[in-house]
Amino acid sequence: MIFELLDLSNYSLGFLSLQTLFTSIIVSILGIIALIHERFSRIGMVFFGITQSIALWLFAYSWIYSSPNIQFASAWAKVGHFGIVMISPACYHFATLVNNKVKRRFRDVPVVWLVSFVPLIFLFFTDIFERSIQSTQWGYYPFYEAEVYIFLVYFLGINFLATRRLWQSYRNAIEEGVNLTRIKILLVAFCIGYLASFDFALAFGFSLYPFGYIAIMIFILLCTFVVLRYRFVDITPAFAALPILRTMREALLVLDRDLIVRVVNPAACNLFGIKKSALLGRRVDHTIINSPPFNENLNALIRYSSLHHYEIEYCHTPGDQRILSVSNTIMNDSSGKPQAVVCVARDITEYKRSEERIRFLAYYDSLTGLPNRTFCSELLSRSLERAKRYSHTMALLFVDLDNFKRINDTLGHEIGDQLLKVVAQNIGACIRGSDHFARAGKRRYENIVSRLGGDEFIILLSEIRQPSDSHIVAQRILDIFTKSINIAGNELFITASIGIALFPIDSIDVDSLLRNADAAMYHAKTRGKNNYQFYNETMNASAHERLKLEHQLHKAIERNEFSVSYQPVATVNDVSFVGCEALIRWNHPEHGELLPDEFIQLAEECGLILPIGEWMITAVCMQQRIWRNAGLKPVRVAVNLSSRQLEHPDMVEIITDLLSKYDLDVEWLEFEITESAVMYNSSKALETLERLNKMKIKLNLDDFGTGYSSLAYVRRIPFNVIKIDRSLINNMLVDHEDATITAAIIAMAHSLKLKIIAEGVTNEQELIELRKLGCDEFQGFMYSKPLKIAEFTTFLKERQIC
Ligand code: C2E
Ligand code: CA
Ligand code: CA
Repeated sequence: MIFELLDLSNYSLGFLSLQTLFTSIIVSILGIIALIHERFSRIGMVFFGITQSIALWLFAYSWIYSSPNIQFASAWAKVGHFGIVMISPACYHFATLVNNKVKRRFRDVPVVWLVSFVPLIFLFFTDIFERSIQSTQWGYYPFYEAEVYIFLVYFLGINFLATRRLWQSYRNAIEEGVNLTRIKILLVAFCIGYLASFDFALAFGFSLYPFGYIAIMIFILLCTFVVLRYRFVDITPAFAALPILRTMREALLVLDRDLIVRVVNPAACNLFGIKKSALLGRRVDHTIINSPPFNENLNALIRYSSLHHYEIEYCHTPGDQRILSVSNTIMNDSSGKPQAVVCVARDITEYKRSEERIRFLAYYDSLTGLPNRTFCSELLSRSLERAKRYSHTMALLFVDLDNFKRINDTLGHEIGDQLLKVVAQNIGACIRGSDHFARAGKRRYENIVSRLGGDEFIILLSEIRQPSDSHIVAQRILDIFTKSINIAGNELFITASIGIALFPIDSIDVDSLLRNADAAMYHAKTRGKNNYQFYNETMNASAHERLKLEHQLHKAIERNEFSVSYQPVATVNDVSFVGCEALIRWNHPEHGELLPDEFIQLAEECGLILPIGEWMITAVCMQQRIWRNAGLKPVRVAVNLSSRQLEHPDMVEIITDLLSKYDLDVEWLEFEITESAVMYNSSKALETLERLNKMKIKLNLDDFGTGYSSLAYVRRIPFNVIKIDRSLINNMLVDHEDATITAAIIAMAHSLKLKIIAEGVTNEQELIELRKLGCDEFQGFMYSKPLKIAEFTTFLKERQIC
């Protein structure tokens, strides 16, 4: 019988049979595609079950339609009905899996499957399903009798429940915001699929064409589309939980009410350095040592049933202190009783370190490690508030290094930075030595050293007993600069100027206190640097005055307000005129004639020294030409140069141009450079000096003996003349030490074949003494004051036979 059934030549395949046969093949293939695409997931398998049941039904019915006789048809009807019986429990199972929310009712599924065995029993052990196969115009078709109605009720009922489940999923999807389209399409597909039930109408004698396969085709196509486009189910937290636990970087522990570890992930084992087996099933405080907050807080947590975040320090291996951020969440049962605690711990040590670093960068100066400007004003405000509350007196010291820029320009920023570092350390140590000091950042804010930027430091002395106390600290700071500082083999001498402002005497707010200390510091600079000054009210006015002066200095050249005075130089032996020094004067529109001490430094600071210096050389050269044209003999004139001018790249060219423009011989022009200007000689300045020397222009080392360098040091520079500073000459007769120094300088200069000029000789005794020491030339009020052009021209004429 079986062989005959399978012998295709017995069948006459008609149009309808071919359509259902074709549909069954397609449905079966789509089922396989869906299964593969779903990667053999549970829901994929169930859907595969639906497709194969349907395929079986349509396949068998194709052969029923084309059967040669009733026996053949009823045999195929058994197979077909088997497929039909399987469809509804598979659909129900499928709909339940799509709605993964209804876990509680999941036990319905086995019941539905079990119930569907009942019709199977009838199917295989009775013939009620195919008792009355009849011939229709499409071929054979099973006709149902009353007892089969009960199966129909079951079939349609289960399918109805499946659709309801999908509808439920649809509602849940709206609430949870998961992909709605997927469920919508599935719902539509199911409804269309059920249209295939109209095929049953035929079984009741209605002569309707069995179009069910079309509905089925659409149903399966839509379902397959859903699989390919969206997959059947969303990835839910429960589904993802395990992989998340395994891969999450945070350590996770789930503890039950007795603090016993129930769940642990690999990150937790790593973090605490304990094996999983040693953690699971044990009390947390028995396994994770060094973790008092865990056991302390868990009890508290369970008692208060709340969420907690905190940080703990945990020592995994000795010496490796880690900071953990812990979040504990209580899990309650349905009656609200705490059942478990989920602890998530994260190692935030690196984060804390970088946070600390960022804080450091924002508040501290990275070079010296001292509080920076931002932090300084914050600390000042706090200290000021305290001082106001407790009526303390405070002192603010504004420390500025003298001539620091020169070190930076000549020796480079790296050396400058190193120097600042050492200075910061020295100031810190000096303050620490005083009773007042406490490091910033710790509990007390009393005495703080901060770096405002550049070479400016701020020292705040809180709780001083009396204002004058601050000068002890100021003097101590000045004292630390008396020694040289060695940076990379360079012996650096540096001094500082300090301004002191007092709270509440000078001002009561941070900004004006700072401003006042700054003004006092500036005053200390104008008082010759290397000293400290207390603020007084006139200082702000003088700062204002300085600004005004700077403005006027800008205009001075174009307004032709400068002039030159000439101070004659004579021989020591027979007091005969040998040359002169050109000295600048500023005929200020308001203040009258200003001496260089009142504006040269300002000109240097604001860069105006370059045009002013050039004007000066031009004026001297031009004057030389005028004297020559007037028939006077050429006269040796020394012009003062500042260090800024030496660094000017075109200095030599400017000088050569002027010499040729006024047709002067190099022998009549000399330059004077102060000892301090050449101390930190940059390569550029040295180059200028060497080029001038090559041109045979004489170079005088000015103000020698004011205490910077040794003669050996300045030998690197090709000087021809040493000018001994006025202070030594004036003290020579009263101070034995100065007399010895002067004698030594003269002797050494001569041994180096350098000429010696004494400056500021004011009386006969000094001259006699210089004569004894063998000094070559001198200048000073004793011989002549600096003279205006007209006076000096007369002076020249008197000494020359025209
Ligand atoms: P310096 O080069 O040491 O010039 C000598 C200063 O000593 C002059 O002051 C002069 O008037 C003063 N002097 C001369 N003999 C005596 C004396 O017997 N007793 C006293 N008490 N003083 C005497 P001056 O003209 O005020 O110049 C001050 C400084 O200004 C100069 O000191 C020089 O360093 C600088 N200077 C003057 N002109 C220029 C210039 O054109 N360019 C630059 N860069 N600096 C200049
Ligand atoms: Ca000079
Ligand atoms: Ca001088």
